[in-house]
Amino acid sequence: MGARMTDAPHPPLKLFNSLTRSLEIFEPVHPGEARVYSCGPTVYNFQHIGNMRAYVFADTLGRALTFKGYVLRHIINITDVGHLTSDSDAGDDKMEKAAASQGKTAWDIAAFYTAEFKRDLSWLNVRDPAKWTVATDYVPQMIDFAKSIADRHCYELDSGLYFDVSTVADYGRLARAVTDDGEGRIEEVEGKRHAADFAIWRKTPVGETRQMEWDSPWGRGAPGWHLECSVMGEAELGMPFDIHTGGIDHREIHHPNEIAQNQAYRGCGSLDCADHSGARIWMHNNFLIDRGGKMSKSTGEFLRLQLLVDRGYHPLAYRLMCLQAHYRSELEFSWEGLGAALTRLKRLLMAAAAVRDVDAAEPADRRLTDLLAKFNAAISEDLNTAVALTLLEEAAGMKKIDQEQKRATLAAMDAVLGLDLLTTQRADLRVRPKAATIAEGEIDAILTRRKEARAAKDFAASDALREELAAAGVEVMDGDPLGWDWRLDN
Ligand code: AMP
Ligand code: ZN
Repeated sequence: MGARMTDAPHPPLKLFNSLTRSLEIFEPVHPGEARVYSCGPTVYNFQHIGNMRAYVFADTLGRALTFKGYVLRHIINITDVGHLTSDSDAGDDKMEKAAASQGKTAWDIAAFYTAEFKRDLSWLNVRDPAKWTVATDYVPQMIDFAKSIADRHCYELDSGLYFDVSTVADYGRLARAVTDDGEGRIEEVEGKRHAADFAIWRKTPVGETRQMEWDSPWGRGAPGWHLECSVMGEAELGMPFDIHTGGIDHREIHHPNEIAQNQAYRGCGSLDCADHSGARIWMHNNFLIDRGGKMSKSTGEFLRLQLLVDRGYHPLAYRLMCLQAHYRSELEFSWEGLGAALTRLKRLLMAAAAVRDVDAAEPADRRLTDLLAKFNAAISEDLNTAVALTLLEEAAGMKKIDQEQKRATLAAMDAVLGLDLLTTQRADLRVRPKAATIAEGEIDAILTRRKEARAAKDFAASDALREELAAAGVEVMDGDPLGWDWRLDN
C-alpha cells in the first residue's frame, strides 16, 4: 500500500473560488502551508464598517486555515499610492487629493489613516498579518515587474504605460465580463486601444509635480494601482500562492487586472488552469449594505467603527454581526441588528466566564467531541460561520458537563470565530456612549436608593427614581436574564 501523499485534514476544507464560480477542495501549493494575500485599504481616509467586513472575513479565513492545521502566512497590503478616485484610469490620486484638501503631506495622511485602520482591526480582534506590505516600499520592484512585461504586453501614451488586455488569454474571466470592451468600462483615457486597458505607470503631466513620484523608464510618475498587488504578492508569497481575497467590487476590475499582469509576468496561458492567475483560489466577501446611506465617505459622518463605539456598542458585537451572515451574502446593517448581536455576545460571554478560570483539558466527552466535529464540518464548508456560531452557543449552554473540557471546547471554537470569549470581561461590553451625561457611579447610587424604596414598598419614590434615570438616558432593566440591570440609551 502506498503512503499517503499529504496529511489532508478531515473533512477537507472546501472554499468557493470566484474564478471557477465553484466550491473547491483546498489543496495548498506548498504542503501543510497556506499563503494568503488580502487587498488592503487605501489610506486616504477612515475605513467604514463595510471595509472592515472584508478584514473580518480575511481574518476568519486565516483562523480557519490555522484550525485545519495549515501553517498560515497572511499578507495584507497598505495602498498609500496609485489608487485613483475612480477604479478606471480617471480622476486624481486619492492620497494626493486628501493631502491637498487637508493641507498635509501624502505621507502624513498615509501614516495617520494606517494607524486608525490598525486600531480598528485590533478592536475587532483581527490578528496581525505576518507582514504589512506598504505599496511605496515596493516601487523599485514594481518598475522591474513593469519592465519585464512592457515589450510584449504594454504600450506607451503621453499619459503613461498601459496594459493591452488583448495580449493575455481570458481577460476578464473573473468578472465574467466580455473581453475587449470590458462591460461597464468607459474609455476615459485618450488613445487607449481597448476600454479595459489599464495604467501600469502614470506619468506626471508636464509642468506638474506630485508629492509621490519616482523616476522610471517611462518618465517621472507613479505606479498604476493594480501593479502593487501583483508585485507584493509575488515578492512575499511567491507565485502561484494559495488564496487571494478582497471585497466583491474587486472581482470586477482590480483583480481581473491583477490576474492579467500575473499571466503576463509568468508567461502563462489560459485561465482554465487557476494557477496561471497567480493564486489558486480567489475569494470575495460580499458587501455590507446600509440603507441609510452612511457608508459613503463623501457624505460627512459615515459609518465607521468609532461611531458604533460612540453609540455604546462594543466592536466585537460588530464582528459577531458579520459572522452571523455567510461571507458571500450581502449583510444589511441596522442598529437593531447590532443591538441583537451585542445581546448574543453578552450571553456567550456569561457562559464563558463561568469556565474561564478552570484548567483546560482535551474534550473527551462524547457530547463535546460531537459538537466539535459538527463545528469542524461547518467551517470546512466554505466557512459557514452562521452555523458555527450556533454550535458554539450549544457548547456554551451545556450543563452538567466537565468544566475543563467545556472550556477547551469553547477555546477551540473561539480560536476560529475570534470573539475573544475567554479574555473579554463582561464589564468591557458596557461601552459608555459618547453622548451620555450621567456617570456609572451615579447610576449605581440611584439604583441603590430605588432598591431601598422598593423594599420599603414606597413605589411612588421608586417610580420617581426610575423617571430620573430615564431622563438621564438610563433604561432600567429589571429582571434582565443576563443580570444587566441598566443600559445607557444611545
Ligand atoms: P478600499 O479601501 O476602498 O480599497 O477598500 C478596502 C476593502 O473593503 C476592499 O477589499 C473592498 O473590496 C472592501 N469593501 C468596500 N466596500 C465594502 C462594503 N460595503 N462591504 C464590504 N466590503 C467592502
Ligand atoms: Zn489589491
